[in-house]
Amino acid sequence: MRIILLGAPGAGKGTQAEVLSNKYGIPTISTGEMIRNALRQGTELGKEAKQYIDRGLLVPDEVVIEIVKERLEDPDCQKGFILDGFPRTVPQADALEKMGITVDKVLSIEVAEEKIIERMSGRRQCSRCGATYHIIYKPSRVENVCDVCGGELIMREDDAPETVKNRLEVYRKQTEPLKKYYEDKGLLVVAYGQEEVRDTTREVFKALGVE
Ligand code: ADP
Ligand code: ZN
Repeated sequence: MRIILLGAPGAGKGTQAEVLSNKYGIPTISTGEMIRNALRQGTELGKEAKQYIDRGLLVPDEVVIEIVKERLEDPDCQKGFILDGFPRTVPQADALEKMGITVDKVLSIEVAEEKIIERMSGRRQCSRCGATYHIIYKPSRVENVCDVCGGELIMREDDAPETVKNRLEVYRKQTEPLKKYYEDKGLLVVAYGQEEVRDTTREVFKALGVE
């Protein structure tokens, strides 16, 4: 099972990726998470990426392509994988093809833009382990405390409303064309994001043709 997840920032890709990953026992490769880990660890990659992320811009293609390429060579990717947040531009999609990587389905999760802005304001992330939450849709057991590690929950800096607007614009310009790209290859399926996570999951399974 090899799947690419498309969708605007805040559409719920990460949450659905986690569900699919558990169901199929395959890893999620999230470029956003990989980049944020590098940021937390203060690596060279993290330092370079920060200037782009803080402005809601994409990290340069060469950088992301290289980290994905390396990650896909890991043994745990042999059984399959879920790509969350990659490719995000046509050159990235071309690079994936050049690596000789084929996928079974490209799933686009669609959510109205007003919803997205509302949702992003409720997103929280553990400052220690990176686990994700939402104050309404996926609350932690204790307010502001991570269920997994007890770390403090914070808002991602790039979830600030001004940055979100930039990210949505970047999505429309640079990522949305990938829908047509994969539609032309006969790989695109669409799921409509719902209020509740489990309802979206049902739509996702339907779109993928699995139960
Ligand atoms: P979201 O899907 O909510 O926008 P991500 O966690 O996927 O968030 O990505 C956060 C940020 O990381 C992006 O705004 C971008 O700066 C960077 N990033 C992630 N994936 C890519 C990618 N494939 N190409 C370029 N930049 C990326
Ligand atoms: Zn944690």
